[in-house]
Amino acid sequence: MCASALIASCCPKGDSQQPSSNISPSEALALSRSLGSEGGDLLERGVLQTAALWRESDGDYVDFESFVKDNYAATPKERRELFEHLSHSFELINGAYNQLALDLQKPSMLASMEPLESDYIFSSFSPSAHLDDDLFANKIAFLTTLNFPHFTLEEKDSLGREWSREQWAYARMGDMFTERVSAEVNQQRALAESRAENYIASYNIMMGSLLSEDGRRLFPDDLCLLSHWNLRDELKACYALGEQGLEKQEMIFSVMQRIISQEIPAAVINSSEYDWMPVSNRCFKDGKEVKLEREKDERYSRILEVFHAYQQQDKCSSSGVNAIGRNFEEGMEVSDSKIESLFKTLLSSPQVAQVASLIESRLGRPLRPFDIWYDGFKARTAISESSLTDMTRSRYPDSDAYKKDMPRMFRALGFSASYADFLASKIEVENARGSGHAWGTAARGYNSFLRTRIGEGGMDYKGYNIAVHEMGHNVEQTIDMYDIDYYTLAGVPNTAFTETLAFIFQKRDLQLLGLDAPLDSDNMTLDIFWGMYEIMGVSLVDMYTWRWLYAHPQASSAELREAVMGIAAEVWDEYYAPVLGQPGCTLLAVYSHMVNSPMYLPNYPYGHIVEYQIESYLKGLENPRLIAPEVLRIWKCGRLTPDRWMNEAVGSDVSVQPILDELTQILAKY
Ligand SMILES: [Zn+2]
Repeated sequence: MCASALIASCCPKGDSQQPSSNISPSEALALSRSLGSEGGDLLERGVLQTAALWRESDGDYVDFESFVKDNYAATPKERRELFEHLSHSFELINGAYNQLALDLQKPSMLASMEPLESDYIFSSFSPSAHLDDDLFANKIAFLTTLNFPHFTLEEKDSLGREWSREQWAYARMGDMFTERVSAEVNQQRALAESRAENYIASYNIMMGSLLSEDGRRLFPDDLCLLSHWNLRDELKACYALGEQGLEKQEMIFSVMQRIISQEIPAAVINSSEYDWMPVSNRCFKDGKEVKLEREKDERYSRILEVFHAYQQQDKCSSSGVNAIGRNFEEGMEVSDSKIESLFKTLLSSPQVAQVASLIESRLGRPLRPFDIWYDGFKARTAISESSLTDMTRSRYPDSDAYKKDMPRMFRALGFSASYADFLASKIEVENARGSGHAWGTAARGYNSFLRTRIGEGGMDYKGYNIAVHEMGHNVEQTIDMYDIDYYTLAGVPNTAFTETLAFIFQKRDLQLLGLDAPLDSDNMTLDIFWGMYEIMGVSLVDMYTWRWLYAHPQASSAELREAVMGIAAEVWDEYYAPVLGQPGCTLLAVYSHMVNSPMYLPNYPYGHIVEYQIESYLKGLENPRLIAPEVLRIWKCGRLTPDRWMNEAVGSDVSVQPILDELTQILAKY
């Protein structure tokens, strides 16, 4: 990173909400020169980044200067000793805080415990909430940034090719303190996010109040669907209903478009007081037509409020990133432009039109825009779920029985007997109150937890299927914590990579029951591809919306509405209208994530890409059922960037080519 990038990143003076640095970049530069920096080296980088995070309350320039002089590790030996000491200390702190949170949340998470009201308070209590503040106050954060400065994603991806594992470990330590957000800014952000969450969580459509243009009710009276998830799932379920299903799908499609355009009458949301014809947008009370007010851009006001809160946080970064950079470069560790080109490669591939015409011939009608949710490629299993449940219930009457069987399951995947025992010794199995999850360890010396539902009669097939998924997470958590060379490299590049191993295990759940089930099929690949095609367009709309927001920071909610609709139509016209028709369609803007989890959507298709790429690599193994040696080798890479990790794993960047190649072969059969 050049000095100018750091200078630009300093908190602007005079902002009332965010205290700024009292050390100027030129003072920091001069100081690093006086200590022997020749420019562009680690010393300069460390001093500049530390200065950007320093506040009046930390001391004046004289204090800063003596802090730097006293604490800069000048030799490689000093630096290594400091690294080891910091690394050990962070592991102690993280491990203990994680265990404390885990123990406090047990009563609300385990089926075997009866939580008290106060347990729910403890379960939402975060013991480490003030840790960062404390580490800045006692200057451990500055000791870290001074000696282990931050590298940008671009630097990690390019310089990282030549880095030793030790250099990677040092660079990862440099990611720990890159911003200093005041409690007030954090609070405002949390408030904006929770208002968006509440808006989405209570946005229901009363399907029994919907009327067709000739006044018929197509849905049951008591059907209440949350937008957009339940609306979409209902639309998917209609594929099984033929002609009658199509009429319902068209109606749901109209409702979605009215939500996006905010022409939906406010009084029909969460209420069955009025009847509503979504196609012509007319409303009725006791059979008489009434005029109702539209929703007035509440959807877009919620997005704007979150944007404004994120803008405040932007001012607290030592590297000058905004919310887009925090999400992609720092969070997913893939730049938004790289994600964009990855998605575009698939969206503009010739395979899209070929799969579309396959769907058209199966449906026996011209495609409609909502056919982005076509779900007729689902593979059917040969064995019924109830007979699988009989098997899992008798095998796993309780969590202990599952725990005892884990070494056998690991051996069946190709782990050596001793490694299988080791893995099993690091994983505790518990009966979950809600659905399943895997809670990993944050330090060596602790175990990770596999939680799934086990009913009175034992573990049913659904619970077992989830248990095997979570077990994949636990294996990842154990390998890249216990088998890793540096603590700061423990983990995976981003959530896609932990989900990948979980899905690899989950797909082999029948194999682990000793059944001979296929690992993949043409239908599976077609289903994954069509799902990717849908969610990539949705993700682009989300990404382009945030670029637009930063280009138009003063926008009103009405302007944002127009912009989002325009963006959705543009993406539609380029990648969807050619196969699904209806130019100008705004459907891609319906996802609720756009409101309550900005920029999260790209994680889904990115995860599918990573998973498919690793699976197709494993498929090429001599015995694709004995995956353990490769799983061990690959997941020991730890927390590199996604592209560096994938290169270590399979020898190329993250890519959509494996699924496109596979599709070419499949489509040749039709
Ligand atoms: Zn998972």
